[in-house]
Amino acid sequence: MTEKYFVVLKDIAKRWNGKLGVEDVSLDIPEGSFVALLGPSGCGKSTTLRLLAGLEIPDEGQILIDGRDVTTSAASDRNLSMVFQSYALFPHLSVAENVMFGLKVRRVPKAERLEKLKRALEITGLLGYEGRKPGELSGGQRQRVALARAIVAGQRLCLMDEPLSNLDAKLRHSVRKDIKKLQQDLGITVVYVTHDQTEAMSMADMVVLMKDGRIQQIGTPEQLYNAPVNTFVAEFVGAPPMALIEGGALAGYGDELTIGIRAENVVQAETGSGRLKCTVTECEFLGAETLIGLDHKSAVGLTLMVPGLSLRPVGQPIEITFRDEDLHVFEKNGNRALAAAGA
Ligand code: ADP
Ligand code: MG
Repeated sequence: MTEKYFVVLKDIAKRWNGKLGVEDVSLDIPEGSFVALLGPSGCGKSTTLRLLAGLEIPDEGQILIDGRDVTTSAASDRNLSMVFQSYALFPHLSVAENVMFGLKVRRVPKAERLEKLKRALEITGLLGYEGRKPGELSGGQRQRVALARAIVAGQRLCLMDEPLSNLDAKLRHSVRKDIKKLQQDLGITVVYVTHDQTEAMSMADMVVLMKDGRIQQIGTPEQLYNAPVNTFVAEFVGAPPMALIEGGALAGYGDELTIGIRAENVVQAETGSGRLKCTVTECEFLGAETLIGLDHKSAVGLTLMVPGLSLRPVGQPIEITFRDEDLHVFEKNGNRALAAAGA
């Protein structure tokens, strides 16, 4: 059943002296896809990637790459390349020497090395920078050198662990697009670790959201956004996060339920006709819209999204309403109620 997947993790567990790293991690990755491992710090993203890379060996479970069981194989035996947060470039070597380092070690002939170098520098927009040392490059350029090095390795699988977290916001955005384009042009499979939901949602074909060493949900960005399987996913994915309301505060929903609603589905109502009476706690002007934070004793994270600039005084009463089909219904244990709309 699993042969059609390029990478398969089966019931993986890893502990250190009994302390949990990851548990019950199962994942099927089709060839050519971009998979993001997403979740808060310490949830097991890097551990999962290191297990896949062969830098750690699992206590339980099985890992297959391209149909081959590599569970206990050495990292060098897995035919993959890696890009880390720290670029791990040699400071005394030039861009060209850094990119070709692995090829030289593997005794690839010089003519072939130079050809691969040229192609990788072309792809990463670094032609003309061959002779520079890493110290003479910007952060974005250094990260592109690390990418070029991964490209010349010519592997079909590339693992990346928070490769953009040392870059400033603007650069992060542009290198994000570079990486995505590269992955598509080369047709390679990328497994990409990030704690940044925007990064995961914008780059990945498939997002794997983790918490406390376990997978919470696997799906397309749309699936995680539109049908979160529990309240953790609901609050982690999307900006602003989904608001959660105690079911008892809404007519027709019981106390045993938690109701989720996204800002874009919250509508201001005429006085006396709203489903919740709230007060303004803060306003955040974002340019195209203003986010108006609302306080209600039975809800967290309620936000009204208004086009353009629309600042309201703190403490101002606002009534809101929403359509039932836009609500996400969760059970007391936090899991999505299966009969709910959109489930
Ligand atoms: P993330 O990358 O999502 O931030 P990690 O995978 O690095 O999280 O860590 C997951 C858990 O495993 C954490 O509790 C971390 O402390 C623990 N852990 C990771 N590596 C080791 C290690 N080498 N020794 C002991 N505990 C570790
Ligand atoms: Mg990590």
